[in-house]
Amino acid sequence: MSATLTSSPHPGVPVLKESGQREVFCGLTSIVWLHRRMPDAFFLVVGSRTCAHLIQSAAGVMIFAEPRFGTAILGERDLAGLADANEELDRLVAKLLERRPEIRTLFLVGSCPSEVIKLDLAKAAERLQQQHAGRVRVLNYSGSGIETTFTQGEDGALLAMVPLMPPAGDPAQADQLLLVGTLADGVEERLITLFERLGIPTVRSLPPRRSTELPPVGAGTRVLLAQPFLSATARALVDRGAELIAAPYPIGVEGSRAWMAAAAHAFGIAPAQIAAVLDPLVERGRQAVAPHREVLAGKRLFLLPDSQLEIPLARFLSRECGMELVEVGTPYLDRRLMAEELALLPAGTQLSEGQHLDNQLERVRASRPDLVVCGLGLANPLEAEGIATKWSIELVFSPIHGCDQAGDLAELFARSLRRRAALTFA
Ligand code: SF4
Repeated sequence: MSATLTSSPHPGVPVLKESGQREVFCGLTSIVWLHRRMPDAFFLVVGSRTCAHLIQSAAGVMIFAEPRFGTAILGERDLAGLADANEELDRLVAKLLERRPEIRTLFLVGSCPSEVIKLDLAKAAERLQQQHAGRVRVLNYSGSGIETTFTQGEDGALLAMVPLMPPAGDPAQADQLLLVGTLADGVEERLITLFERLGIPTVRSLPPRRSTELPPVGAGTRVLLAQPFLSATARALVDRGAELIAAPYPIGVEGSRAWMAAAAHAFGIAPAQIAAVLDPLVERGRQAVAPHREVLAGKRLFLLPDSQLEIPLARFLSRECGMELVEVGTPYLDRRLMAEELALLPAGTQLSEGQHLDNQLERVRASRPDLVVCGLGLANPLEAEGIATKWSIELVFSPIHGCDQAGDLAELFARSLRRRAALTFA
């Protein structure tokens, strides 16, 4: 465990780097939203009963529907090296594909146990791909807690798909805007309509809704990240010849406008056209945020690390809702992908990267913030200490992107404070 103060990513933004005990999800959790996005894909975790319990708890009632995820549980014989885990995996996959003929893409998802016993899932995916060629694609990525935190699981899944994306050789296909990162279906449709109105005719998404319909990539592809946690995927797309559009993330009115305007700018669309399409949205978004700003303005906010959405959220809550930032924690800070966001944070904002839970909780208690954004493991204990909290996981499962969602997003934070005020009998 350690804590060091590193040089700032831009003037006025010191970063406290910490390591130690952490209170975060592992990357397996991202299966919960990825399987909903691609209904023809199946996510097979190769892990332990702990991993199976985690997914069941995170997915809640979804486990009662026809599940598109499961766990191949490594038994004691596998862990002791007595059984050939590869043979068992092949048998299990054959059985799964026989029972579920609709599966088109199978993700083998690595976990802590599979990594610790050095089960080579990349090789297993290649072998299974040959066995089931023409029937299903088999991909591999790691969602283990040793390597990944929460939303980084999505980065791994998308990265695994990049090599399968066809080259954008055909000039008719080459000029496209590629939105990268899972968005709620309704939000994605709305954003694509807006891009078309701005004058960008070809907009595609990664991940696509059908896992087999991967968008092409190459020179002429301009990538706009819809989520901030996709560092490895962004790098891989750039390596395939795509160009990355620098922009803040589509959180809040200001961020969403800047995000869409950056894409329009990259396609050479005139500022007057951008303003004609976006300004009415901005106006409506601001009006929707206003009643929540009344509750939030002047309140002190502390964000614990969870999803890498913390910096864009902090930027929205400070600039558009008037909140004061006590500390903004993030599990991982990619300075390049976060540059536009950092430039919009108030000067002197305390950022922290990584976590040393006890030290961070001491800072929470000492600063007595009005609202703490944290995971479920900390929310009720902090409430019991008299500190208002907002569960961070809701921010990953709710449609929060775009100008149209800004009011609902502000409401998610204002609700905690309103409820607290309503329950206070003074
Ligand atoms: S992958 Fe690791 S951290 Fe995640 S549930 Fe399995 S054992 Fe736990």
